[in-house]
Amino acid sequence: TIHNLLSELALVIESEQVHVSAHIDETLTVLGSPERLHAVVHNLLTNAIKYSGEGARIYIEWQAQEGQAHFRIQDTGPGIAPEHLARLTERFYRVAADRNSRSGGTGLGLAIVKHALEAHHSQLHIDSTEGEGSCFSFSLPKINSDCHKSDIQAT
Ligand code: ATP
Ligand code: MG
Repeated sequence: TIHNLLSELALVIESEQVHVSAHIDETLTVLGSPERLHAVVHNLLTNAIKYSGEGARIYIEWQAQEGQAHFRIQDTGPGIAPEHLARLTERFYRVAADRNSRSGGTGLGLAIVKHALEAHHSQLHIDSTEGEGSCFSFSLPKINSDCHKSDIQAT
């Protein structure tokens, strides 16, 4: 899923002149709704591209970490002020109109991300410093290939 999305957005990335690097473990699988998780990654990636602006760098990671599947997207964009951070996942909430005047949006993206992750018993972590950039991340339980075998043997 993550790989499809990257190729899907390759053109956008080139035209927007952002530099994207990724560290992806393609063998890493999780249990969940492909559509909803695709929407999560899509929202976070389009936000990073939309708000970071020309010349920005975006780093995407999908790796096993502490026994979990960990997704992280980091950008060198404008960052988000502390007073906005807490409200960012509210429906229709958008930061300062001037910053976003050129970039349309409904303010629903992160609300959808939050609800989709909650449906997977996960949550979105946002770490951002104004003027430096933002980092959005979440973890999901990973599926081990040998886990299936032991499940069958145990029953
Ligand atoms: P939509 O996703 O519905 O098209 P949107 O992008 O405005 O609209 P959200 O994705 O919920 O809505 O984001 C809310 C606000 O958070 C954005 O308007 C923007 O101000 C801020 N924001 C989101 N991602 C970033 C980011 N990577 N860097 C800086 N600001 C961000
Ligand atoms: Mg958005």
